[in-house]
Order: sequence, then structure tokens, then C-alpha cells
Amino acid sequence: MKKTAAFFLALALTGAMGLSVVSADTGTYTGVGQGIDGDVVVQVEADENTIYSIEILEQNETPGIGSVACEILPGQIVDANSILVDDIAGATVTSSAIKTAVREALAEGNIDPAAFEVAQESTEAEEKTSVALDCDVVIVGAGGAGLTAAVRATQEGAKVLVLEKMPMVGGNSLKASGGMNCAGTKFQEEQGITDSGVEEFIEDTMNGGHQLNDPELVRVMAENSASAVEWLESIGAPLPKVAATGGTTHKYLHSPEDGSPVGSYLVEKLSAEAEKQGIEIMLGTKATEILMEDGRAVGVRAEDAENDYTISADAVILATGGFGSNFELMCSFNPSLANAVTTNHPGATGDGILMAEAVGAATVDMDQIQLHPTVYQETSTLVSEKMRSLGAILVNQDGRRFCNDLSTRDAVSAAELEQEGGYAYIIFDQNLVDQNASAQGYIDKGMTSQGETYEELAENMGLEGEAVQNFAETMDTWNQAVASGVDEEFGRNNGMDDDLSTAPFYAIKIAPGIHHTMGGIKINPDTEVLSTEGDVIPGLFAAGETTGGVHGGNRIGGNAVCDFVVFGRIAGQSAAEYAAEAESADEAA
Ligand code: ADP
Repeated sequence: MKKTAAFFLALALTGAMGLSVVSADTGTYTGVGQGIDGDVVVQVEADENTIYSIEILEQNETPGIGSVACEILPGQIVDANSILVDDIAGATVTSSAIKTAVREALAEGNIDPAAFEVAQESTEAEEKTSVALDCDVVIVGAGGAGLTAAVRATQEGAKVLVLEKMPMVGGNSLKASGGMNCAGTKFQEEQGITDSGVEEFIEDTMNGGHQLNDPELVRVMAENSASAVEWLESIGAPLPKVAATGGTTHKYLHSPEDGSPVGSYLVEKLSAEAEKQGIEIMLGTKATEILMEDGRAVGVRAEDAENDYTISADAVILATGGFGSNFELMCSFNPSLANAVTTNHPGATGDGILMAEAVGAATVDMDQIQLHPTVYQETSTLVSEKMRSLGAILVNQDGRRFCNDLSTRDAVSAAELEQEGGYAYIIFDQNLVDQNASAQGYIDKGMTSQGETYEELAENMGLEGEAVQNFAETMDTWNQAVASGVDEEFGRNNGMDDDLSTAPFYAIKIAPGIHHTMGGIKINPDTEVLSTEGDVIPGLFAAGETTGGVHGGNRIGGNAVCDFVVFGRIAGQSAAEYAAEAESADEAA
């Protein structure tokens, strides 16, 4: 809103200079646009030539994504005096809701919105300014891994600079809705969970990944997971709730006390800690190249709308996430994905992998691309695996279950694709909604069918004929399985604490969607990037979804967050130590 304040200051100044600014027929009008989660209501002050101010009166957009558009876009429209400014990348639904609301408000004031449909010139400066910057550790990407690494490296005394190409922090991490798998934690101990230790966690991760995983990296992740949770608590982000998740037989999934989605929770806490530590995060700044000198990484080249940056650093951390939004790259490994929907944010284009390859880095498992089985196709919204951990089941068009609903993501996705139409429904009840904020969110977003009885729900789902009765029978059979603790049909053995008997009942139509790219940059347990010859590339580190090897052929739910916290911490520490050594070597020389 700074820009708006500056604008009003300018108005006051021009007014003082005797220029007419706000015309006599200026008025204040309201308008409404349909956002991602309900109405976006704006108040616009305008006359027929000028939009003087836009205030958001009401919005319930996704924190950290749509909420960012609500903060930024009104000021941009006012500054440009045009509605045709670029949408905020990653928040297109909210951006268009704001624009619709502004148009409606103008129309309410009998002002023709067409007067403000003025095409904008590109914001890219024709000639960019060259800017040289210097730091100990430059981190590319401000998702979970980058923010964690930034906080950790700063704790080690490094001067850190973080580059983020999107207008907001968080990347795919912001969308993580389940939790963080960890083993041997005090929270497990407090809850009497004694059968879910490091060795079981390793076994489940390796089995889930079809033994394709790098066993050394998996061990590092599992062994450091408990200390990672403690570290999160130390920066004000405890994850005390523990449950089971898809593909595991044990209770590892740690999540926030209040049931809020783990991703937005952690991104917010990590950002707050980064701010507290005075870490500079350059938003809208894209790294384009790793700078090398004598075989060592010594910084990056980057750009924003006005500047070209040359950033010198003793160490570089790539934390750029995966490539689940880069269809060209994905299809070069798996052409059948061309028409799939993706749950990934638009910045997940594999930049770090491509930049690392350009300086000789090796990659692993690039063809291992995960489909998540519960994606609401209309808006590519992921329905969290936690829903099934808390007791939800999957049924097909016949109203019947068709697999162990909590098997690994690849197995459940494959089973769904075998059903007629290649889709299914996830079924839950009011008791589950009361335990999980995400579930209420799905209802608020209009994704659900609903019914006071199983039959009513089946009809509202569009099931017909025998399928309605089948569905009621399926639900009775399932509730009995929960009561006895034995799923005779499909052998499910977790997420069975509560049955699905509390009305109203809900269903969301879902199908598989692209979710996680398991492959990426090859690293060693210290997060050092390895070359195609198998040597360490000095000064170059990588963590999070941009790396490969941790998840093998299939990532189990809850392991992305564990990956980014554990390896983000290691990268922050390793890079800070490397930078300190490089600096003392320079001083000695
Ligand atoms: P992870 O879980 O590994 O942290 P995320 O997807 O959460 O992965 O975060 C990766 C972040 O990196 C995203 O916010 C993304 O926009 C950012 N990013 C990707 N490529 C670049 C780039 N070239 N320059 C700067 N930031 C980038």
C-alpha cells in the first residue's frame, strides 16, 4: 500500500501547485469479484478519467498467494490508471477477481470501465541497469528449502541474500497441506507412539520409492528429522500433532496444533524468522546463471524488471523447487503427461536443474514424476492426503471402493485410472471436517457434494441406479471395518481411527494430477552438488525439490516437507561453513 500513499502525496503536491486533481464528480463505489475462496469486495474512488484509490474491503484468498495479489494489484491499477495491468503471477484467479470487482464498482458509479482498459507497455526496462551485489551465501528460491537454508546460514553467521523470481515467497511448499514426516520425536514419545522410529521411516521411504532412492540421503533425512522438528520449534513453529499418512504403516506425520495446513504455516513462520534476522529477500528477481571461477561456483547472474544483477558470493544454494509446471521438460521424459493437470505453482519450471546442468552438474531420476491421486480437476486443487489419514475413503462411479485408499500415491493413481472415466470420489463426514481446516476450505470453495444421508449424498454426486444402494452399502461396510480394525476388502490398516457416520456427508470428485518431480540435481549428504564425473562442484549446494534421489520412484506424503527442512538446514549450514572457509583462505592469500 506504500505506492498508494506515495500517490496521494503526489496528489497533494500537485494540488498545492494549483493543478486540479480530484474532479468534482469523483465518487466512491463498491464492486465484487469471485475469488478463489468467496467474494473479493473492493471500494474504488474514481471519476471518469482517473482511478484515485482502490481498497479491498473483503477477501478470503489463499494466504501468501491470493492475499499477496490483494496487497499489490490495487496499487498497480491506481499507478497505471488502467485495469489492464499484468496479473500477479501465481495468483491469477484473485487478480481477475480484483479486476472484475473494479470494473463493477466503476459501472456502479456510471463510469465506463472501458476508459480504463488501456493496454500497458511492458514493465521490462528497455535498457536495464547493471547492479553488482556481494554476500557470503546467495540462495536461489524462497520456498521451504530456501527459507530454511537462509535462516540456518544466518544463524551460522553468514551474510545471506535470497532471490525469488515470483512476487511472493513460498513456492510449492506453500501448498503443502498435510504435514512433515519425522521419526523419533518427542511428540511421538509424548503420544506413546513407539513403533515409528528412524528405521521404520527409512524402510517406508525406500519401499514407497520402489528402492530407487539414494539410501544414504534417505538415512540422512530420517536421522535428522527429529532434530529438524526441534529446530522448527526453536524458531516458533512447533508441529505437535502426529498421524499416519499415505504409503506408511506408521505414525510420522507431524502437523500444527490448530490443524492448519503445514505449508502455509511453515512458510509464514520461516519468513517471520528471516525477517527477524534481517535477511534480504529480493522478490521478483530471477536467477539465470551460476557464475563459475576455476571450477568453483562464485555467485549468480539474476534479473528483475529494471536491473541485471551480478551477485558475487562465496557459496551458492539452489533451492528452486521442481519442474511440475514445465510441461516441455516433463514431456521430454514422459510424453503421456501432456494433457494432465498440475498442482504445481507456475514458478516450478526446473530453473535450478537447468542452471546446474549448464555448469556440469549430474541429475538423477528425472523421469520420475509423481501423480497425486486426489486432485479436483476443475481448479487443479489438491485434496490433501491427510483427509484419508483422518478417515476419508475413495469410491468409484459404481459407489464402491476399489483399492487400499492409503496405499502409495502411484498405486492409488494407477487404480483410479483403471476406473470408468479415470476418476473417483473422496468421501468424508462432518466429524472429519471438524478436525481439519482444509476440509472446511474445500466446502467453502464449492468443491463438495453433500447429503444428510448416504443415499442423498450419492444422488448429489450424480450416482445412478444401483450405484446409490452400492454406495450406502460401501459406507456401512467401511464403518464396520473401522469398528473391527480390519479392512477385509483391501487390507487398509491406517487412517481408521474414526468411521464416517456423522452427517452431513461430503464427496469431492477427484482424479490424478501432476504433483512432485522426484528427480533433480544430484547431491551428497552435505548437499554439495555433484558433477557428471561424480566430483563435488565446490561452492555449489542444492536442497529441496530441485534435487533428486531422496524420494526415488515415488514420494510418500509428508516427505517433501521433511526433505526441505532437513536438507535446507544442512545446505544452510554447509554453505555458511564453506563460505567462512573460503573467506579465511582469501584473507590468508
Ligand atoms: P522447495 O520445497 O524445494 O523449497 P518450492 O517450490 O517450495 O521448493 O520453492 C522453490 C522456489 O524457488 C519457488 O518460490 C520458486 O518461485 C523459486 N524459483 C524457481 N526458479 C527460480 C529462479 N530462477 N530464480 C529465483 N527463484 C526461483
